[in-house]
Amino acid sequence: MNTNATPRLVDLHCHLDLYPDHAAAVARAEAAGVYTLAVTTTPRAWPQNRQLAGRTRFVRAALGLHPQLVAEHASELTLWERYLPEAKYVGEVGLDAGPRFNRSLPAQVAAFSTILDRCAEAGGKILSVHSTRATRDVLDLVERCLPPGRGTVVLHWFTGSKVDAVRAVRLGCYFSVNLQMLNTDRGRALLGAIPLDRILTETDGPFTNVAGRPAEPADVTLVLDAIAAARQVKPADVASGVLDNLRRLAAAE
Ligand code: MN
Repeated sequence: MNTNATPRLVDLHCHLDLYPDHAAAVARAEAAGVYTLAVTTTPRAWPQNRQLAGRTRFVRAALGLHPQLVAEHASELTLWERYLPEAKYVGEVGLDAGPRFNRSLPAQVAAFSTILDRCAEAGGKILSVHSTRATRDVLDLVERCLPPGRGTVVLHWFTGSKVDAVRAVRLGCYFSVNLQMLNTDRGRALLGAIPLDRILTETDGPFTNVAGRPAEPADVTLVLDAIAAARQVKPADVASGVLDNLRRLAAAE
């Protein structure tokens, strides 16, 4: 991380290019001092995201191919591979075995395996990974294709079991936690299985809401408050822990 620019907060999973004004959304994240990972759903969005993020201190673009789009966009994997040398961050990638996307699971597994293989070959990539109803499959593929030291997985909006969480920690994964995850007893209990040194914050904006409007990166303060309440520690301690984790994660930037 550029030591001249110290962020205040971290939003490690936000779709800045899906707000009505992409450039304005980037500018708001930058002005608020939020280290924001601008994830993308298709590699066609990479050039614009990279260009806008490149002018900032705190916004980073991630090269993605969303599992929910793999059925129709599988041919874009070639484009994803072509852009990979330009990308430090990869995402949104992963698997989705929910009822709407289960049918494309074999194609998703093929694409995600290739993505992990290419990241392992390149080394040093940080991946924001979707795992809805597919936690075990995601962890199996990570274990098989991305050996420790060849890349780092950040599990976004994790909804697996405690056993899965413990396994993910053992595999070296981080977790980007959002407010919705902590709205349920199950989510708060799951948080207890994750050590503080693996926790990052996210909004997944604009797909989540705060006060009836799409969440913005600066809204991660609410996530810090919720984590602090669940773990009975001070929000400031959670905030500094998350920044430490980001520093460790992005050390090679
Ligand atoms: Mn997302």
